[in-house]
Amino acid sequence: MSKSPAVPVSEYGKPLPGKTTVITCGKRGCKVKRTIKVQDAFQVKFCVEHQKEAAREKARARRKAKRDAEGTKASMRAVAA
Ligand SMILES: [Zn+2]
Repeated sequence: MSKSPAVPVSEYGKPLPGKTTVITCGKRGCKVKRTIKVQDAFQVKFCVEHQKEAAREKARARRKAKRDAEGTKASMRAVAA
């Protein structure tokens, strides 16, 4: 088995052992390439910056969903009372 000269590293400088792949950020207009582990390819769709942005959006949506659910519960309680 031939060893590659350098282990690819993530954007945090962490070595990425095993198979890696290069993705291009899925954000419209963003052409940043990112080296990731092959097994992460199904969940990593963006560059570091836009991955954070996507995570923030997701957290915001989750908070909103929770708030909506609680609001529904509260109004149901109000009806029951
Ligand atoms: Zn990007």
